Amino acid sequence: AKKTAIVTGASSGLGLYTAKALVERGDYFVVMACRNVAKGQEAAKQLGFAADSYEVMELELGDLANVRNFVKKFRGKKYAKSLQSLICNAAIYYPNAVTPTYTKDGFEETVGVTHLGHFLLANLMLKDLVGAQDMGIDKRLCIVGSVTANTNTLAGQVPPRANLGDMSGLAAGLNGDRNANAMIDGDRFIGPKAYKDAKLCNILTVKEMSNRWHEQTGVTFSTMYPGCIADTPLFRNHTPVFRFLFPLIQKYITKGYVTMQEAGGRLASVVCEPQYTTSGAYWAWKGGGDQLWDNYWDNSNRTEAFDNKPSKEGGDMQKAKEMFDMSVQAVGLK
Ligand code: NDP
Repeated sequence: AKKTAIVTGASSGLGLYTAKALVERGDYFVVMACRNVAKGQEAAKQLGFAADSYEVMELELGDLANVRNFVKKFRGKKYAKSLQSLICNAAIYYPNAVTPTYTKDGFEETVGVTHLGHFLLANLMLKDLVGAQDMGIDKRLCIVGSVTANTNTLAGQVPPRANLGDMSGLAAGLNGDRNANAMIDGDRFIGPKAYKDAKLCNILTVKEMSNRWHEQTGVTFSTMYPGCIADTPLFRNHTPVFRFLFPLIQKYITKGYVTMQEAGGRLASVVCEPQYTTSGAYWAWKGGGDQLWDNYWDNSNRTEAFDNKPSKEGGDMQKAKEMFDMSVQAVGLK
C-alpha cells in the first residue's frame, strides 16, 4: 500500500514540486492541501501527475475553522490510516506592506497563515500520524523554514531582521493596527519582518514539538531550508525590478539559487529518505547560503544536507516554549 503524505500550499512553487517528487517515486499518495482547489488540480494536471496518485483538498490556513474542517474531512478518507508524513510548506510574503491585512480570525495575515494556521494543523494532525498504521518507516512532520529567519547567516542579516522580542504582540492576539500588536514583538508593522518572524516561529515550533513529543511518539520532527528558489510566485508582491534581478543575483553571484525541481526533491527527501531521522533537525544543503561564511560560494556539492545551526533566537528553547504556549492560546487548542 502507498504511504500518504500531505503537502500544504501544493498549488505552486516548492509545494507543487515536492508533491511531484513524491508522486513520481510511486510509493506515495499525496494530498495536495490547497486554498484554491481548482488551481491545485490544474497544476497537477499540467505536471502530469497520475490520476490515482493524488487528491486536492481544500485548506485555507487563514481560517482556523477551515483548518479544523480539513482535518475532519481527512479523517474520513480511506488513505488516512496510511499517513506517514505532513509537510507544512505554504507561506505568504508581503515584502513592501506597511499596513497589515488579517486572517478570518483577525490575526496579522503573514504570521496568521504561515505560522498559526500550520501550528494548529500540525498539532491536530500529530494524533493522525501517531494513529496511522506502521508503514515501515518512521512518521515525519516537516515545517519549511528559511535562511531569512536565521540571523547567523548573510541573508538573515539583511534588515529588517527576524526578532520575536518580548512577544507582547502575539500575547495580545496579533490583531493590532500598523502601530502596535500586529507584529509578534508588539512593535510597528513591517511586512518583510512579519515573514521572517513567521519562519522563525516555524523553526521554533519544530524544535519544541520534537522536545515535547519525539521520544513519546517516535515521530520525527524537522525543518529545512531548500535553498533560494528565487523565481517562485512567493515574490509576486515585489517590484518588477526586484523580480527580474533577484534570480540573476542568486544564480550568478551568490550561487544560492535552486530550481523548483531540485528544491522539491530536497523537501520530499526529508520525509522519505533514511538519512533524515534526526528529530529537531534544521536541514540545509551546501552552497545554499545557509551558513555565515563556510561554503557560501562553494557550489561543488549540492546534494549533501547537514543539520544546520540556528541563530541564537532560533535555538532559544525557553523562547520556543513560551512562543508555543502563546500560540496554543491564540489558536484555541486548549
Ligand atoms: P509560492 O507562493 O509559490 O507558494 C506558496 C503556497 O502557499 C501556494 O500554494 C499558495 O497558494 C499557498 N498559500 C498561500 N496562502 C495560503 C493560505 N492562506 N492558505 C493555504 N495556502 C496558502 O511560494 P514558494 O513555493 O516559494 O514557498 C513555499 C515555501 O518555501 C514557503 O514556506 C517559503 O517560506 C519557503 N521558502 C521559499 C524560498 C524561496 O526562495 N522561494 C526560500 C526558502 C523558503 P496559492 O497558489 O493559492 O497562492
